[in-house]
Amino acid sequence: MPRPIAATVDVAAFRHNYLVAKRYAGEAPAFAVIKSNAYGHGLLRCAEAIADCADGYAMLDFAEAAALREAGIRQPIVLLEGGFEAGDAAEASRLGLTLAVHEPGQIRMLELDKVERPVDVFLKLNTGMNRLGFRPDQAAAQFARLRACPNVGRITLMTHFARADDDVGIREALGRFDSAAVPADMPHCVANSAALIRFPEAVRSGGVRPGIILYGCSPMPASHSAESLGLKPVMHLQSRIIDVQQVPAGETVGYGGRFTAIRSTRVGIVACGYADGYPRHAESGTPILVDGRRTGTLGRVSMDMLACDLTDLPEAGIGSEVVLWGRGMPADEVAGAAGTISYEMLCALAARVPVSVLGA
Ligand SMILES: *Cc1c(COP(=O)(O)O)cnc(C)c1O
Repeated sequence: MPRPIAATVDVAAFRHNYLVAKRYAGEAPAFAVIKSNAYGHGLLRCAEAIADCADGYAMLDFAEAAALREAGIRQPIVLLEGGFEAGDAAEASRLGLTLAVHEPGQIRMLELDKVERPVDVFLKLNTGMNRLGFRPDQAAAQFARLRACPNVGRITLMTHFARADDDVGIREALGRFDSAAVPADMPHCVANSAALIRFPEAVRSGGVRPGIILYGCSPMPASHSAESLGLKPVMHLQSRIIDVQQVPAGETVGYGGRFTAIRSTRVGIVACGYADGYPRHAESGTPILVDGRRTGTLGRVSMDMLACDLTDLPEAGIGSEVVLWGRGMPADEVAGAAGTISYEMLCALAARVPVSVLGA
């Protein structure tokens, strides 16, 4: 029998969440952000689940974009880091991709490459993240250079917020963005999930770029749970109890003895560890479901296993079903207890975990 760990990706839930995002977007096109293998959920299965209703997609990698085209997907695809070297504008043209342009070398690429058809671009402004993009006072000059280039098609102005979960942060960044001296009728694309949900002013005609909400997680603090936003979890990570230890008071559990039993403790050992993608930094008490009931982890997560408290779950034992995250156990809650964010956990699902698809 295979090791009992397994992930399920519910593509019907993914589609539901995309339609939620589209409701927030109104008339603006919603580019589904499916970078990093669709946040660990599987690129093609997610892209195809919304192929009949998607306005477009956003990702990073030429090879992944080519895979979408080979799968017959015709919608716009935005490459969020643009081209990387000479020839990439030609490749984008051939595949019908839209390129972010965040540094002058990428404009040169568009000027020098021989392209079949003009390439649509997203001119990226740096509004405070200080990661990619031109400062707003350089926007007019970069826009003029792009507009003068016959290889360039439609130009959209974009930015990405450093503090999308904070009203002051978004207002400041939008103020900088809107100070750019570019034509007033130019389309804008600025909103990620958090901005889309919280900030109607960030929903602009050039589109929105929801990522994490498509995967059923909240981009906001715990007070705004994914469920309260009408989102459904997409990835479910399950395993089973493979051993049980009765640990006397005073003894410890796991590497480094990080958990000390203060009472006689019934410890369940789960076949899931950090090599499966479970966060190693999850503290004792990180929530976990055993036979549908909530309990907490105990001690350090090891490579292939973790421990949980079965003292108050006398019916549970070897073979009991465990949900690490998914239905009934929001990934956001586990991430919060582990000092990380759901994004990192979902992206980290390990290749050794078998994935089955639900709702296709
Ligand atoms: C990842 C990413 C997004 C999506 O962000 P979420 O917080 O997951 O909605 C949007 N825009 C850019 C440029 C990104 O890199």
